[in-house]
Amino acid sequence: MILTNEQGLSRAWVIAAGKDNYDKVGDISVTDLLKPPRNRLLNERHDAVLEQDVTDCVWRLLGTAVHHILGLGNEGDCITEQRFTYHFEGTEISAKPDRLEPDPNRPGYWRLLDFKVSKTWAWIFNDKGDWEAQLQMYRYLVEKAQGLKISEIAVELLMKDWNDKDRIIALSRKDRYPRAQVAVMDYAIWNNDRVEAFLRERIAVHKAAEALPDTELPDCTEEERWAKKGVWKVFKKQPDGRLGKRSVRNFEAEEGARTFASGRPYTTDVQYHPAVSTRCEYYCPASKVCDQFQFRIKSRF
Ligand code: SF4
Repeated sequence: MILTNEQGLSRAWVIAAGKDNYDKVGDISVTDLLKPPRNRLLNERHDAVLEQDVTDCVWRLLGTAVHHILGLGNEGDCITEQRFTYHFEGTEISAKPDRLEPDPNRPGYWRLLDFKVSKTWAWIFNDKGDWEAQLQMYRYLVEKAQGLKISEIAVELLMKDWNDKDRIIALSRKDRYPRAQVAVMDYAIWNNDRVEAFLRERIAVHKAAEALPDTELPDCTEEERWAKKGVWKVFKKQPDGRLGKRSVRNFEAEEGARTFASGRPYTTDVQYHPAVSTRCEYYCPASKVCDQFQFRIKSRF
């Protein structure tokens, strides 16, 4: 990956962003298995020519910093960030859970933890299915490769946009909102049959895609593109003409938005916010060489 530095930041940022701490071993990692094959393969195949600005790496750097700091909390028998591999039906899979610690409530068993940095909505909607699948695979691979027994799996989530004001508002509306900036997300452990079926399915889609040229790679789905549908937003206009920070209501169809707006006892403004594939737009360096994005997503706007 070629790192650009459009803001002229100091070399410290560039060097830190260029240090890829992924030590590739085995055929495929758990993290890569969870990526859409198109995303993984385009980024791998074109790595030497793809560009990314250092400012686009800031959140990744923050995540690395948090892992680094929490690594200082290593103690006693804990196993932190140790990469290992396991041969599963002919494929060598690598995994690197953030932390394994003896379960104080269950002698002989271990707790498996992964540290994440994300936004509050990840906790509110609990829609990070990838996190759960990642932990399930880690649990299976740790037990098979290292012979440890896992009693609990959890994500410890640091929410970078959490704030107390939003918490109080959510509380008054009886909405879900995390009580503190860091929250624990526990998951029920899948049985081995379920994990093995999941592994088989992910390995199969990646292996099948590896044989294909770029233009024939399977499309990334809406979910994989973190796509948000286009919406019509109704805003309340302040007496000074400014719009409220948040829309009063959102609609899929323009007609619904305009009917709602015309029935308000205050002045409104209706705006269309177009659909966006967040991953493609902001998080996938391969978007420049991806025909799905360039010709079938971007060209629609
Ligand atoms: S640009 Fe979007 S569609 Fe293309 S590989 Fe990346 S995530 Fe997938």
